[in-house]
Amino acid sequence: MKDNIKKTLKEISDKFGGKVEFEYQLSRCNTMKTGGSVFAVYMPQNFEEMIEAKRFLDSAGMKTGVIGRGSNVLMPDGYLDKVIFILNRGDFREIAFDGTKVFAGGGVWLEELIARSSKQGLSGLEGLVGIPATVGGAVITNAGYKDIISGNLIKINVIDEFYKKVEIDKKDIIFGYHCSSLGKDRIIISAEFQLTRCNEIDAKKKIETCFSEKIKKQPLNEKTLGCIFKNPEAHKFSAGELIELAGMKNKKCGDAIISNKHANFIVNAGSARSSDIVSLIEDVKGRVKKEFAVELEPEIEIW
Ligand SMILES: Cc1cc2nc3c(=O)[nH]c(=O)nc-3n(C[C@H](O)[C@H](O)[C@H](O)COP(=O)(O)OP(=O)(O)OC[C@H]3O[C@@H](n4cnc5c(N)ncnc54)[C@H](O)[C@@H]3O)c2cc1C
Repeated sequence: MKDNIKKTLKEISDKFGGKVEFEYQLSRCNTMKTGGSVFAVYMPQNFEEMIEAKRFLDSAGMKTGVIGRGSNVLMPDGYLDKVIFILNRGDFREIAFDGTKVFAGGGVWLEELIARSSKQGLSGLEGLVGIPATVGGAVITNAGYKDIISGNLIKINVIDEFYKKVEIDKKDIIFGYHCSSLGKDRIIISAEFQLTRCNEIDAKKKIETCFSEKIKKQPLNEKTLGCIFKNPEAHKFSAGELIELAGMKNKKCGDAIISNKHANFIVNAGSARSSDIVSLIEDVKGRVKKEFAVELEPEIEIW
């Protein structure tokens, strides 16, 4: 059964020019650099290939998922019996400009989109600098720092649950704090943004200011998943402040450590396991609940 799945995936990838790798180390596809292995990762070249591979896997009863850069997903330590799609090739990495509009494939890295847009003298995305995301992952999670990805969004193209390429207008998506109504059944293959004309030098300055502010506060050069918890609603303290006030900074479990720079970040300081990170998360939740009667909610996804 598994050999047949491997054979057919190989045939589909050969036909379209995509790539498939079996028994793949999960630490290679997430920014925390933890996790065991997965049955396969599939890197399609275009949406026709994505549809053919997805349709086949669904009919074979094989579970599938999609990730961008894995900067918001904690992978399991064991074996994941799944095929993960990673949109890091071909059409999914395309960027195209039309006046003040920019079109980006779902697998485009935000830093590339921001740099290319500013070079064109287009502003609107600079405040997302320092977020190690793809366009697809950023839209699904409504990523934001000084700017928010949904702010300049016009529309997206997805592959829906019926294997059709469908356009979804921004007005038909509900965006909230680190979430959207897009759900798990649709794969974002591209997005279009409305930017505004600006001076290239001003855009570059905004990028630099925003990045230097972010790097002063956050451990951007470490292995992390960004903020672990959402900020509690209507509370005078952020999640990071509550964790720090609870005396949890530098707390360790194995090689996982609560960042000294920003208490809402857990750093993999060596060869941490995902289970070490989960233990720290539980520890933090317990302590913050005991000290402040606040129930912290994870911002990250645990697979
Ligand atoms: C150092 C650091 C700093 C960060 N700073 C910020 C910040 O300032 N603001 C912020 O909001 N976040 C921040 N994050 C968190 C993270 O980068 C964001 O949540 C980001 O949007 C995740 O993007 P990704 O492409 O890596 O998605 P992933 O983590 O790979 O996936 C996230 C979710 O999106 C789904 N997904 C991914 N791609 C697609 C697609 N094409 N179609 C459908 N579903 C898809 C996945 O299945 C998963 O459910 C930070 C993370 C790190 C490591």
